[in-house]
Amino acid sequence: MIEVAEAAEIVWSSAEALPTESVSLDRLNGRILAEPIDAERDQPPFDRVTMDGIAVRFERGRKRWRLQTRQLAGDPPTRLASEEQAIEIMTGAVLSSGSDTVIPNERYELIDNGDTTEVVLESGYQPEKGQNIHRQASDHIAGSTLLQPGHQLTPAEIAIIASAGRTEARVHRLPRAAIVATGNELVAAGDSIQAHEVRLSNAPALAAAVKGVTGIDCDWHHLPDDREVLASALGEILRDTDILILSGGVSRGRADYVPEVLESLGVKRRFHRVRQKPGKPLWFGTVETGSMVFGLPGNPISTLACFCRYVRPAMMLMAGNANVQTPTVKLANDWTFSPTLTAFVPVVVQPDSEGQSWASPLPTNTSGDFSALAGAHGFVELAATDTRFEVGRAVSYFPWR
Ligand code: AMP
Ligand code: MG
Repeated sequence: MIEVAEAAEIVWSSAEALPTESVSLDRLNGRILAEPIDAERDQPPFDRVTMDGIAVRFERGRKRWRLQTRQLAGDPPTRLASEEQAIEIMTGAVLSSGSDTVIPNERYELIDNGDTTEVVLESGYQPEKGQNIHRQASDHIAGSTLLQPGHQLTPAEIAIIASAGRTEARVHRLPRAAIVATGNELVAAGDSIQAHEVRLSNAPALAAAVKGVTGIDCDWHHLPDDREVLASALGEILRDTDILILSGGVSRGRADYVPEVLESLGVKRRFHRVRQKPGKPLWFGTVETGSMVFGLPGNPISTLACFCRYVRPAMMLMAGNANVQTPTVKLANDWTFSPTLTAFVPVVVQPDSEGQSWASPLPTNTSGDFSALAGAHGFVELAATDTRFEVGRAVSYFPWR
C-alpha cells in the first residue's frame, strides 16, 4: 500500500500531453492552446472613434460648425476640409484626417438650414483636445503575442483568436476516455430492477465528471463480474482509449476480477491500494501506448473522490494543461479524528465577504453514504499525520467539478 502523495505522483508522472491538432474557432472553447497567437494587425488598426458624434479640429472656444459629410463605421476614411466644418462620425469609424477631437452627439444640436446643416454646441460644454479617440496600436502592435501556449481557452480568448484573423488554432488533442461500470448487481436507470439489485450510478457520474474536464460526451459500458466477458470487452475498449476509467471490482471480493483481467491484457500495474479513506482499493496501471487505466473502487463516494484526486489532473495534463493547481480552503470547524489513513472528507464550501472559502465537513458513516454527496461541493484531504484539525487550517480542496 502506498501514500496518497506517492500515488498522485505516479499518476502525474505517467501522463503526457497528447499530440496537437488544428481546431476551428467554434470548437475551441475549453481546449488548451498549443501555439502562441500573434496579432494580425495593430489594435486598434487605425485611430478609432469611440463615440457617435462629430469629428472636428480642436479650437478653444469654438461653438459652431458646418456639417461637411457623414461617415459610418466601415466607411472609407474622410478628410475634414477646415476647422469651421465638422464630420458626423460613428463609433468604430476611422477618425477623419484633419480632425483631432470627437464631440459626442448628446453635446450638440443639428440645425437644418435647407442646403446646409449647422452644429451648435451645448452651452457651457468644453470639449478636450483628443477626446473620444482610441489611438492606433495603443492596445498592441501587429505581431505581438496575444496568447501563450498552455492556456485553457475561454470565450474571451476565442474573441482574441478571431481578432487575429485566425479561423483555427492548434490545441492538444483531447484524451479519448471510456467508462466501464462493473458489477452483477447493477441495473441502469430506466431498466426494471429487482429487490436484490442496485442502481448503477457511478457511470453517469463519471461521464459528467469527464465532460466537466474535456467538454466531450463520453459513452459508458456496464460489464458483469465475469473474467472472460471483462477480458474481451476491455481488450476491445482499450484499443482506442487514452484513459480507461473503471468502477468496481478492484477489492478483495470473490468476484473482483478487474486487476487480474487488466494485467492479462498487458496493462502494467503501477499501484494497487492507497492509504486513503474512502477509496483504499484504487488500482492504477499504464499501457505501452501511453494509455492510462484507473480501477476505481465502486462505492459512489470513493469513485468520485478518486476521480477528482487522481483521474482529473491526469486528464488535464493529457489535454495539454500542465499547470493544474489544487486550491486550498480553510476549515470552518474544529475537526478531530484518529485517522490511520489519509481522509477524503465531503465538505460544503462557502466564501466569506473577503473572498476566503470556508469548508464545513459533512461526516459520513460509510463511503457508500449518498447523503454526503448531495449538498457537498467536493472534499478536502486531511493527512493521517494529524488528529486535530483546528478552525482556519488551510487544506487541499477537490471540488466535484
Ligand atoms: P465494488 O468496488 O465492486 O466492491 O463495489 C463496492 C460497492 O459499491 C458495492 O456495494 C456496489 O454495489 C457499489 N457499486 C459498485 N459500482 C456501482 C455503481 N456503478 N453504481 C452504484 N453503486 C455501485
Ligand atoms: Mg463489484
